[in-house]
Amino acid sequence: TDTTTWTSQRLKETDKEYVIHSWSVQGKLDPIPVAGGSGSWFWDYDGRRYLDFQSQLVNLNLGHQHPRLVEAIRAQAEQLCYIGPGFAERSRAELAEMMAGITPGDLKMTFFTTGGAAANENAVRLARHVTGRQKVIARYRSYHGATAGAMSLTGDPRRWAAEPGMSGVVRMLDPYTYRCPAGHPDPCPVCSGGPHLEEILRYENPETVAAVIVEPVTGTNGLLYPPDGYLRSLREVCDKYGILLIFDEVMAGFGRTGEWFACDHWDVVPDILTTAKGLNSGYVPLGAMTVSTRISEWLRDNMFWGGLTYAGHPLACASGVASLRIMQDEGVVENARTMGERLGAGLATLAQRHPSIGEIRGRGLFYGVELVRDRDTREPLVPFNAKGPAAAPVGRLLKAAMQRGVYLTANFNVLRLTPPLVITADEIDLALGVLDEVLDLADEHYQN
Ligand code: PLP
Repeated sequence: TDTTTWTSQRLKETDKEYVIHSWSVQGKLDPIPVAGGSGSWFWDYDGRRYLDFQSQLVNLNLGHQHPRLVEAIRAQAEQLCYIGPGFAERSRAELAEMMAGITPGDLKMTFFTTGGAAANENAVRLARHVTGRQKVIARYRSYHGATAGAMSLTGDPRRWAAEPGMSGVVRMLDPYTYRCPAGHPDPCPVCSGGPHLEEILRYENPETVAAVIVEPVTGTNGLLYPPDGYLRSLREVCDKYGILLIFDEVMAGFGRTGEWFACDHWDVVPDILTTAKGLNSGYVPLGAMTVSTRISEWLRDNMFWGGLTYAGHPLACASGVASLRIMQDEGVVENARTMGERLGAGLATLAQRHPSIGEIRGRGLFYGVELVRDRDTREPLVPFNAKGPAAAPVGRLLKAAMQRGVYLTANFNVLRLTPPLVITADEIDLALGVLDEVLDLADEHYQN
């Protein structure tokens, strides 16, 4: 098909008729027909440009159409597009070796998947085999993917549609200091991690628990940063009972928080690390499960019960190798850190003008802005799991930003600010200017 004959109208109609979009009532959708993208921008068929302050699904860390990344995929496509997972293939071996180098601690061998959910499925199954135990502890404010097992690990309300799901998942509360479910006494058993986990284990029997899985920094469900000491405290409790610690850094990994991995901020190393998204900026579907040296040794003598037709797909792995090289050569993690400081400072200034800003949480380019109706009561601008008219105050704000050319999303009352890690100072300032305008809409609901 000659794409030049596709008008905006034809694309809209064909899409509406034939494409099933994620997490949506199809008849209520009106997707923008996207014609192209470059760097932090994408544009529609009418030439209207949007600053992508989301990095799409927080995966497009290197921005749209990075020339070196496109070239690496083209070069691999010319050499070998596909070979089965049972063969040794260069881009796969090279990327696995690079992963051992950049991931923290003694993480060593990697199984490559098609995305984050599959990485988590494999992590849990492997943890069960390594420990000989069944149960997995996961948190409420979490997203681990949409396949059956990963959705059962997920805490967010999308899980409800997939229940009863995988058995053996036990739920833990989150270190959400701004809205602490335990009322946040000092010291707080929930927000310090270990005491809450210990109590759950007492009732569950630690000898039945294979793993604890957490996002070191919660992404989709509100950008939640754990207090210092939290991850270490989980690590210690896991070690005490022989439980494996799985960090899901599908969203937070690869420079997003201004370090290579979010857990690097606290120097805590998991037994299994799952990644995807920023691993190759999503140019080709790719995820990974990287395991400790101890588990790597275990795998030398024991069966790995997992496989995918596209495990270690050469095009995906070649784009991963190129992506990591670009990050190293172009100082991408450093840029995330400096641009993050600029964004953080700008948001702090906005908080002085806009009472609806209740809390700003962020490091690197991984920011959440909590919108409230009252700073004292912290009543959220829209309630948890808000839909339809209840969600309108935030929906209106997002729409107004889009009309001004800035693409933003939110988790209920928390704005997610997660631009590409290659964003420039001018682009950060442009987004801050638009935020300043649209936050007036949130302030209209302020009650104090
Ligand atoms: N884990 C986390 C932390 C995520 O943010 C996501 C996706 O948003 C996933 C897992 C699932 O990844 P995928 O959609 O590639 O399966």
